[in-house]
Amino acid sequence: MARILDGKAVNQAILEELKPRIQRLSQERRRPGLAVILVGNNPASEIYVGSKVRTCSELGMLSEELRLPDTITTAELLAHLDTLNRRDDIDGILVQMPLPRQVDSRAVLLAIRPDKDVDGFHPFNVGQLVANAPAPRACTPAGVMELLRRSGIDPAGQEAVIVGRSDIVGKPMALLLLHAHATVTICHSKTKDLPAVCRRADILVAAIGRTAMLTADYIKPGAVVIDVGMNRITGRAEAERISRGAPAKLAAFEKHGSVLVGDVHPGDMAELASAYTPVPGGVGPLTIAMLMANTVQSAELRLA
Ligand code: NDP
Repeated sequence: MARILDGKAVNQAILEELKPRIQRLSQERRRPGLAVILVGNNPASEIYVGSKVRTCSELGMLSEELRLPDTITTAELLAHLDTLNRRDDIDGILVQMPLPRQVDSRAVLLAIRPDKDVDGFHPFNVGQLVANAPAPRACTPAGVMELLRRSGIDPAGQEAVIVGRSDIVGKPMALLLLHAHATVTICHSKTKDLPAVCRRADILVAAIGRTAMLTADYIKPGAVVIDVGMNRITGRAEAERISRGAPAKLAAFEKHGSVLVGDVHPGDMAELASAYTPVPGGVGPLTIAMLMANTVQSAELRLA
């Protein structure tokens, strides 16, 4: 029977550990503060920002949500960032992606002060990651590392295969696993014979954005499978395909008219893996926990 790596439980553990640190800061200095910028009204972005802000206030942190119109220019957005960069009560700044087309996303990324870049996307922080030097780390891959550590899974000496090479998940994930002494392979859309490469993995990380793409022939029996993907299915034929060996998915689809699925086939993963992250309830909750951890750490460094 595969072991389920419970992201919600690890999220709770991380948040509980943050509480006394937040309390100490609040009593001795001031509350840690996170500013979240949301441009336009992308429904998915609104949900993500809503839960980040809610978690902040549940923890007793200052959270400020800046809602800006989708007609905003790069210069106007940079002016807001300049103000937040200077504010003493703000320790973390997060700009929810994606931004409207007319905004230069790279200029925005560069404009955030690296020590307030709690997403870990600023080139300075990316450089620190490459060098294995201290800096805020990208939240999703950092969350995966925390989940592995707390689940007693040591990547040292293991074959780790990551499918996906994005700046926000695939690449930082590869570097973190490398620093943890795994032997790392990064795959992408041009990789030849992807199933064979994936079957080498003791630790298989899927960050692709393609519904249940990794099926049985991609998974070595006994592998640890980390499914970062989050895809919403609204079609019945697709729901039936992904429900093979995972009847709860079809039941959820019947009930809600849609269902959330990762990049790994849930039935095949449950059958073959020794341990895996479910979707939902696996990697998702860790991302938000690490965002809170990065903000608290930033406040501690600033107020030390
Ligand atoms: P991107 O679209 O930026 O990157 C996808 C990667 O997958 C690319 O490197 C791409 O390769 C690769 N890829 C696409 N198709 C294939 C294929 N057929 N074979 C092999 N590789 C392929 O996605 P993100 O990294 O931003 O996100 C990945 C997934 O993770 C998404 O489902 C997203 O929703 C989810 N996510 C979840 C988070 C969470 O908190 N749980 C946080 C962030 C993301 P190439 O570079 O060659 O195009």
